[in-house]
Amino acid sequence: MSMQRRWFGMAVVAGSLFAVTGCAHDRIPNVQITPRSEWAKAEPVAERLHTHTPKYLTVHHAGVKDDGLVPGDEQMRRLYTFSVNEKPWGDVPYHYVIDRRGKVFEGRLTKFAPDTNTGYDVNGHICVCVKGDLTTQPLLEAQYRSLVDLLVKLAAEYDIPDSRVAGHMDYSPGKTDCPGVLEQYIKDGTLLRDMAAVRGGHTFTFEAKTMP
Ligand SMILES: [Zn+2]
Repeated sequence: MSMQRRWFGMAVVAGSLFAVTGCAHDRIPNVQITPRSEWAKAEPVAERLHTHTPKYLTVHHAGVKDDGLVPGDEQMRRLYTFSVNEKPWGDVPYHYVIDRRGKVFEGRLTKFAPDTNTGYDVNGHICVCVKGDLTTQPLLEAQYRSLVDLLVKLAAEYDIPDSRVAGHMDYSPGKTDCPGVLEQYIKDGTLLRDMAAVRGGHTFTFEAKTMP
């Protein structure tokens, strides 16, 4: 093997961990995402969905206490059944769901606008839901690390600036306390700081926070 080929091989190995996009030196984590096809037993209801252009990254919590005992894929199927039967939605309302172990599930395809109970204009929002009732349950470190990595990846993929990373309650003031304690990380800059650390290839220390 020539020296040139060997260098090329090393670059490919490095590229499998981090792909360089956006700003030349940003590191984009390779987030493990369980595709919709792996958990879903039914197709989305196409006529209830409409396409949009992703512009915002919006953080939610599930708002339901979660002891972590129901496997994430089963939770996704239950959420789907609720969404199409109890709600007039075409699919699960979120684009990504992070379970209590930090496992990331693909939900609604990002080309479709999400759905909401609180009446904000959902067009352009990519919605990421962290499981649990984060007003009463702690945000778990594994969940937070998955969230940070996923947001870095999505921001690069859709060229979304940090100024468009927010919590659900920022769009529906007075109507929801979603995403619970995660709003503290958004408001005080912790989330953006940790996203910057990941982009820079640095580690960060998880800070446990409490509701105000
Ligand atoms: Zn929400």
